[in-house]
Amino acid sequence: MAIVERLEASPGQRGRLALANPATLAPLGEVELATSHDVSAAVERARKAQPEWGALSVSERGHYLERALRTLVQRADDFVSTLVSETGKPATEAIATEILTSCDALQFYAKRAKHALADRKLPLHLMKTKRLYLVYRPLGVVGIITPWNFPFLLALNPSAQALMAGNTVVLKPSEATPLSGQLVEELFQSAGLPEGVFNLVQGDGEVGAALTKAAVDKIAFTGSVETGRCVAEQCARRLLPCSLELGGKDPMIVCADADLERAARGAVYGAFANAGQVCTSTERVYVVDEVAEPFLEKVLRETTALRQGAEGEFEVGSLIRAEQLAVIEDHVQDAVARGARVMAGGRRNPDCEGIFYEPTVLVDVNHEMKVMREETFGPLLPVMVVRDEDEALRLANDSRYGLNASVWTRSRHRGLELARSIDSGCAVVNDCMITYGVTESPFGGVKESGLGRVNGEAGLQGFSQLQSILVDRFGGRSEFLWYPYTARKLRFLKRALRTVWGGALGRLLS
Ligand code: NDP
Repeated sequence: MAIVERLEASPGQRGRLALANPATLAPLGEVELATSHDVSAAVERARKAQPEWGALSVSERGHYLERALRTLVQRADDFVSTLVSETGKPATEAIATEILTSCDALQFYAKRAKHALADRKLPLHLMKTKRLYLVYRPLGVVGIITPWNFPFLLALNPSAQALMAGNTVVLKPSEATPLSGQLVEELFQSAGLPEGVFNLVQGDGEVGAALTKAAVDKIAFTGSVETGRCVAEQCARRLLPCSLELGGKDPMIVCADADLERAARGAVYGAFANAGQVCTSTERVYVVDEVAEPFLEKVLRETTALRQGAEGEFEVGSLIRAEQLAVIEDHVQDAVARGARVMAGGRRNPDCEGIFYEPTVLVDVNHEMKVMREETFGPLLPVMVVRDEDEALRLANDSRYGLNASVWTRSRHRGLELARSIDSGCAVVNDCMITYGVTESPFGGVKESGLGRVNGEAGLQGFSQLQSILVDRFGGRSEFLWYPYTARKLRFLKRALRTVWGGALGRLLS
């Protein structure tokens, strides 16, 4: 079953991708693939456009984002329809997690970038005769490579941040979701961005690899650990900065004092939203023995109430890529072979035509199983009963991933304490995923979940080059430390060392 079929290039022509709706298998048309020459040409266009774009004030750049926002609001229904047919996700999810979040990002960065990227003037703690300025300058041309699970938001959001920081952009969306990439291009075109400021190159991994080898100044990559490693290696060779937003295996810890109704609903939403294809999906649950039975009862009640489909009202849509089915089936088979029990789901949905896997709950799982160690990126919810919170914490940290995590308890203090102890870039208390996370909250992973942060001030500053400029305040013929070096100067320096750092004066000055 292929949702994206590659049509080989005939002589003198570019290759094409034939697309189909993953939920209905209906054809969606064809998209032309870029060549490596197209990638270089796009980077050149971006390079040419950058000085003028970078010379605009942050507020002037913000006006373009505001115009894009207005178009997005007006054309939201068209955009949702493309997203639904390209990904098989429910319209409610497309609007909530792709369109609303994108509107929020456009508005937030249009308004707030000015503050985040403003020059900072700092007095030096000791050298009162100098003034330090911190200046955020554009990097130049940013190559952005994105995945297929939130194909619109994850392409638009980093592009908006990179643009606001004064860079021009070349975007390479996933070959599985090129139409969503086109929507981002359409949106920026409608906003009247000057020629060459935003550029789209369609294609597969080879086109992505060509972008990492092109004359860009940064790569912002979102995708799997395996590809992220290739991208990082390629960038390291050229000492090119890169940010890597990679996969996760997010743990959920359910404490004995948790609100079990909320925790169970949160577990089900966290595991099955976007058919589990979220980097911050709840991928493994640790529930303390004391409350395991009622928690599981509620989880099963909520799971079996879910409706899966492609039309009308439903909660869980299709998978986006046929290849994902093999991973999910492998994780379930491996778990069952090692003693896990399937409490709900556990198979492809026989009533649906497209690529559907039923929302699945597994129990009697352990860390020998792939389902507890490797990212599934599908609708699986493995639940492991643990003795206490300490055991839950130890197991939560027993992972090569560290993207997001959640803790469920009625004690806010205990929730914060546990969240702090989890090795993850982000964490949530009494909520799941980071659904509100494209604005203030910097987002990214630790361990193999990635490098760098997107979103918030840290995200905008990550698309900038931080320049420190030191300015002398009073002038004069020379500085004390300049030549010549005399015995008198040496004696003075030694005395200064003892006076300033050997006593209270240094503390007073700083
Ligand atoms: P992939 O790593 O397969 O692909 C990501 C992007 O990289 C795609 O555009 C892909 O192109 C491109 N690519 C493939 N090979 C190369 C290469 N050699 N050089 C440069 N680019 C290349 O990830 P998926 O698209 O399968 O996305 C799923 C993964 O993304 C999951 O692990 C998920 O957790 C992670 N993710 C992380 C997020 C985060 O913010 N931390 C957010 C969302 C997802 P093509 O698809 O055309 O082959």
